[in-house]
Parts: sequence; C-alpha cells; structure tokens
Amino acid sequence: MTNKNDDLFTAVIHAGQHPDPLFRGVSVPIYQSSTFAFESAEQGAALFQGREEGYIYTRIGNPTTKALEDCVAILEKGYGGLATASGMAAISTTYLALLDRDSHLISTDAVYGPSRTVVENELSRFGVQADFIDTSDIEKIKKSLRPNTRVLFVETPANPTIVLTDIRACAALAKEKGITLVVDNTFSSPILQNPLELGADVVIHSLTKFLNGHSDVVGGMIVAREESLFKRLRKVLTLMGGTIDPHQAWLVLRGVKTLALRVEKSQDNAMKLARFLEAHPEVRWVNYPGLESHPQHALAKLQMKGFGSMLCFGLKGGFEAGRKMINAVKLCTLAVSLGGVESLIQHPASMTHAGVSEEEREAAGISDDLIRLSVGCEGYGDLREDLDQALNQAK
Ligand SMILES: *Cc1c(COP(=O)(O)O)cnc(C)c1O
Repeated sequence: MTNKNDDLFTAVIHAGQHPDPLFRGVSVPIYQSSTFAFESAEQGAALFQGREEGYIYTRIGNPTTKALEDCVAILEKGYGGLATASGMAAISTTYLALLDRDSHLISTDAVYGPSRTVVENELSRFGVQADFIDTSDIEKIKKSLRPNTRVLFVETPANPTIVLTDIRACAALAKEKGITLVVDNTFSSPILQNPLELGADVVIHSLTKFLNGHSDVVGGMIVAREESLFKRLRKVLTLMGGTIDPHQAWLVLRGVKTLALRVEKSQDNAMKLARFLEAHPEVRWVNYPGLESHPQHALAKLQMKGFGSMLCFGLKGGFEAGRKMINAVKLCTLAVSLGGVESLIQHPASMTHAGVSEEEREAAGISDDLIRLSVGCEGYGDLREDLDQALNQAK
C-alpha cells in the first residue's frame, strides 16, 4: 500500500538538493562565503541587472540557503521559499512586505505571542491597525473586515490551545475581498498540512521547530504561492536583512532529511499518549485534534494529513498540580519551544505566562490547569511511564 505522504518522504531527502558540481559531494556543501567573485565586469553587470542567474552576496542569495529554500518550497508546493534568521524574521518580513501605512490586519487571537506584540507595539507606530480574534469562527472574521484590511494571518492549530481555523473558508473569503491570506504552519510542518494547496497565499514556518527538529538551530521560512508575491517578499527580506546564515541553513537542511520519519513517530506517540491521558484519573480534559472529543476533529481530518504531536491537557488538581507535575517529570524536559526529537513539557500558568493576569490568561484560553506537551520521538512506553509517575506525584 502506498502511504499518502510517499512523495513527501522522498522530497525531504532529495528536493532542491543536488551533488555538488565541483567534487560530486553527496551532501550539499556549506558555501561559507559572504561574497562571490565575478568573472568580469560584464558578468558582474549582468548579475546585478538580473540578465544572468548567479550569486553576488550572501544577504541576497547563497547556494546552501537556496537548496533549503527550494526543498521547503517543494514540500509546501509553492513557487519559491525565502529562508530567514528566525521564525520572527519570516513573520516581520511578511508584515512589512504586505502591510501599508494605516492598513489593517486580522489575526488569530491565540497566535504565537511575538507575532501579536510586533504588530501592537511596533507596527502600530506606522499606523497599522489590527484585530486579534477567534479565527475558528468565519463569521467573526467577516465582522472584523474593514475597507483597509490587507492581510488575514492565521495560525492553525494555534498555540497552546490547539484551536483550528478553517483554511479553505479563509482562502475563499480572502480571495473575494482581495486580501492576502498568510498561514503560520509551524505546528503541522509541511508533512501534515499544506496551506497553499488549500488556497492560502503565503506560508510561514519557524524552522526552529519541526523542520530542523533537533532543538539546536533558530531559523524561519516564508513560502509564496505565486511569483509576484515571492518577488515582493524577497525584495523586502534582502533589503531589511533578516537572511539566514549558510551554516545555519545547512544544519536545517540536515534536519529536514528526517522530518517525515520524525513526524510519523512523534504523532504516533502523541495519539497513544492522548488516549492514555484521557483515561487517567488525575486528568480532567485532553485537547488533541486526533481525539473524537476534540470539537474540531472533523475539520482536522479535512485539512490535515495527520494530527501532529502537540497536545495539551488539564489536571484535576488545577494550578498547584500543574506546578508539581512539571517538577516531577524525569524523561520529558521542562522547556519552551516544540517540534524537537525530545519531548518538551511546560505549564504556562506557572512558567511562560506567570507574569500575565489570570483574566488575560483566561481570555487567551490558557487555564491554570493547562499543561502543554510537545511529544518527541522517544519510546512510547517510556513517555507513558514518565507522565504516569509525574501525574501520580501531582495528586
Ligand atoms: C516559535 C514560533 C514562531 C517564532 O519562531 P522563532 O524561530 O522562535 O523566531 C512563530 N510561530 C510559531 C507558531 C512558533 O511556534
């Protein structure tokens, strides 16, 4: 039987990557060079004028970076990719390229924190207006539209509540209104969700998470569906300078080779752990798109090719039990970030969101009992045992 993701298992290993033309090295070389020699004044002029393809200067383009960009663009089925120094560089570049002075943005309320802060604290200085709303409800998006709305930015599944937004419905609305639809696809990776195929215009990734997968590199990626949009984004990125470094790009390319394998294993672990947690006496609720009890299980089946490896759950003992539990884990690591081979656990109310008022936490869907788990590739039995002993100590 062919796996519906067979092409992606092949693409992660080969797409955009060719043996090096000089020595036939199988691994893409690291072109650790800031600048590239011209053969002549005439060739330099041709490169600058775009009459000839080639490399000039690494902020503008680099062969190692290009291999990573081509690989992810193929995985996301887009026209072209742009690798950036971090996920936030990808997001801020996209905002700057697509938002004009005094224009309006609609975005998911549970979006990655800095994606919101950069709009509210920085872009607001240029008159950019924004509404952060529950984008899982298309009617709420329609009600927030203004004549100057330029961008609809959605994160699905969103962080850390695992709420989904219907990408197809958003794409239809964006098309009708002439708005650009941007999807932050970090939580799913291109293996499980391809927003461009569902009608989105731009896809964002924090490469730091699943694509690199080893908790050792920070990076980002923008993939555009069409050439004109790609060129606009590229112009802004190379000018603003949020480009990735070639060594960093090479490390991510190395990580991407095992993306499909890692996603398969971690999501298999996540499905089993979700069922285990759902039946555990110390657990009040579990939020995972693969469970029939998830309110958007049907939507997840429609727009995702798998349910991923991010889940959250609530403890019967509330805040205190949450704090005790994360202090009691032995195999899971107590850390922010996600998408690595190692399982990472955190309790937002006592950690990342400890400085935020209870009302604000509640408004963002972060209850005091919520534990977030990024399931890694360890053995399932070991993960279950670790969570079980930690839950029993948190009573
Ligand atoms: C981590 C993350 C980002 C930001 O990426 P960095 O690489 O940390 O800059 C953006 N969106 C989501 C969903 C993330 O998880």
